[in-house]
Amino acid sequence: MKSKLFYQILVLALGFILVWQGLSRFDFVGYFDLKRFSREQEEKIGELLYKILKKTSQEPENENVMLLLDSLKIKICLAAEIDPESIKIRVIEDETVNAFALPGRQIVFFTGLISASDHPEEVAGVMAHELAHITNNHVSKKIMKDAGFAYIASAGGGQVSSEILKNLLHQLSSTAFDRVQESEADKVATQTLMKSGINPEYFASFLEKLSKDEDQIGVNLEWISTHPESKKRADDVRDLAVGFKANRLPVVSDSLWNGVKADFKSQE
Ligand SMILES: [Zn+2]
Repeated sequence: MKSKLFYQILVLALGFILVWQGLSRFDFVGYFDLKRFSREQEEKIGELLYKILKKTSQEPENENVMLLLDSLKIKICLAAEIDPESIKIRVIEDETVNAFALPGRQIVFFTGLISASDHPEEVAGVMAHELAHITNNHVSKKIMKDAGFAYIASAGGGQVSSEILKNLLHQLSSTAFDRVQESEADKVATQTLMKSGINPEYFASFLEKLSKDEDQIGVNLEWISTHPESKKRADDVRDLAVGFKANRLPVVSDSLWNGVKADFKSQE
């Protein structure tokens, strides 16, 4: 009698493991057509995520930063053949060197990334890279993968719990996309930079600079930790840009860039 019960439990346990294995290998992203996310749903999630981010951080007082990012956005978007109005640039006062894309076509810059840049073209490179994560649907795919089933359920009309949102924000701001997506974003970014007359060398050297500076400058280089293999990435960017003739004009006026830098200095 006892052994019968034992076998029943064993069969149940095996059954459970099989179902669990099957579910965890199941391609939810492929099965649930991405079109099931309407643009509005993604925008709503994006706004909620930005609200959470703003609760724990500040927007900068440095007005020149917004002017700089807006003029870079217009250049980069036009080169990428995207309506600049459809992209929202957010800035957060934080010395961490980071930038990331959020759902709802948002790109978040931490002021630390701009402080760590020596030229506006470096910031433009990071922007073009993050924009590519948006336009190539990497952000949408990541939401599906990370928040997965819970999000699909919520898209049916239910509420997304704040735990899911917080977790999603963490995933989007501090973890990498997969390797294929990262190199795809670099490739698209390099092409966009070239189309807008910006030499991709600035982006390549920015990647190298941050990978070297990590120990020296003592700030949190989140963007590099979520984007590893900087040296290889810089080489790939340079390979793509062979023979490129850069525009001689600076991407933004020297006075605007110097103003941004001066504002950062005065805050120190
Ligand atoms: Zn990336």
